[in-house]
Amino acid sequence: MARHRTVRAVVTGGAGFVGSHLCERLLEQGGEVVCVDNFSTGRPGNVRRLRDVPGFRLVEADVTGPLPDTGPVDTVFHLASAASPADYLRLPEETLEAGSLGTRTALRLARRYGARMVLASTSEVYGDPLQYPQHEGYWGNVNPIGPRSVYDEAKRYAEALTMVYHRTFGTDVAIARIFNCYGPRMRPDDGRAVPTFIAQALAGEPITVTGDGLQTRSICYVDDTVRGLLALAGSGATGPVNIGSAEELSMLRLAELVRRLADSASPIVHVGRPADDPRFRRPDLRLAEEVLDWRPTVRMEDGLRRTIDWFLTAPAESTPRPAV
Ligand code: NAD
Repeated sequence: MARHRTVRAVVTGGAGFVGSHLCERLLEQGGEVVCVDNFSTGRPGNVRRLRDVPGFRLVEADVTGPLPDTGPVDTVFHLASAASPADYLRLPEETLEAGSLGTRTALRLARRYGARMVLASTSEVYGDPLQYPQHEGYWGNVNPIGPRSVYDEAKRYAEALTMVYHRTFGTDVAIARIFNCYGPRMRPDDGRAVPTFIAQALAGEPITVTGDGLQTRSICYVDDTVRGLLALAGSGATGPVNIGSAEELSMLRLAELVRRLADSASPIVHVGRPADDPRFRRPDLRLAEEVLDWRPTVRMEDGLRRTIDWFLTAPAESTPRPAV
């Protein structure tokens, strides 16, 4: 498979949680980065440090509309989209548009400059899966009209459109199906389990586990996820390729682990489970190992410790603002 080299990249959603780590890695590798973000769920503080780094440019724009000219680029990473349930349920139409119109903008940009386009898709395309673990060949079990569908279906559409550009125009594309990722710069109010549990544990508040807590997720530390995205960008693979961790655990066990690592005495309480919340989630990582020679390396306890440390020490401009 032909290798692809990124020298100048556009990262849509680059001021978000995953996007800001990706921008950092690209710059560390000596590349140039145009970060496009509308700050709907990301924060200027996530990229403030990068503004003085040579080769970094921040464009405040909505990717669902026309973008200012970025100049020639060789890779477009399309991450712009609300990603946490709290965000996409608050921004349902915007989320559908980021997956549809936003993906079209990113694909047009890649086509214009003959660039490779890497789509940040999601394990949510598998819905509440009937196959275990989830292999890329599985077509999923998604409720198309439920509240979560704004995210799941937007990403399924984004994948379909990406393949249309590949087949119709020969655009070089890659689809990453990212499984739950965690790490520094997550907002404690974004509704995802790791930041919610950490914020509650550190505040000494009850840790709220949804349902019986026996539903599972496989959480992957953000450095590993970004390394996977870069490996995919650098490969000739089209995918879809699962990027995640096979270290699966129940949400109850995660709550206990966070409480112990945060040295907290918070009680664990059970609250209602959201509609269509998947029961099991674990990626089949054989394809990623085979075509990308990639596997996660950060142990869950280490990743959680680093995330807890960040929550304790984050500078003011990086600390999450309260939900609006
Ligand atoms: P995030 O909300 O922190 O980042 C998304 C970024 O996109 C934000 O900075 C937001 O302001 C920006 N954005 C949203 N809509 C936009 C628009 N229309 N125009 C310009 N910018 C826009 O979320 P994240 O966790 O960093 O996720 C990044 C990407 O990875 C998303 O596409 C998400 O679907 C995907 N993903 C993430 C995870 C995960 O566990 N974090 C899992 C699967 C997939």
